[in-house]
Amino acid sequence: MMKNKKLAKNIADVSWHKFYTYLEYKTKWYARAIHKIDKWFPSSKICSYCGHVMEEMPLSIRKWDCPKCGIKNIDRDVNASINILKQGIKELKKENVA
Ligand SMILES: [Zn+2]
Repeated sequence: MMKNKKLAKNIADVSWHKFYTYLEYKTKWYARAIHKIDKWFPSSKICSYCGHVMEEMPLSIRKWDCPKCGIKNIDRDVNASINILKQGIKELKKENVA
């Protein structure tokens, strides 16, 4: 089923929806907040150490070096997760100030 692109996208969307629904339930259960950031936020292209934004970051690149700060061997997924966390905190702080 995952070979059919349209069907694969639908399956992936349902899975994310299920995951999000479960996450919402758990956050309410534990009296926590959940915050979504823009799905187009370039989390993989931003160096989480210095903020430099790479022009391109093909999916095939799993580890990379930042040309600005010189950090070597940045793990794509760990870096993206740090950027998503930072962006979420930044947006929540803005919401609380306004
Ligand atoms: Zn950097």
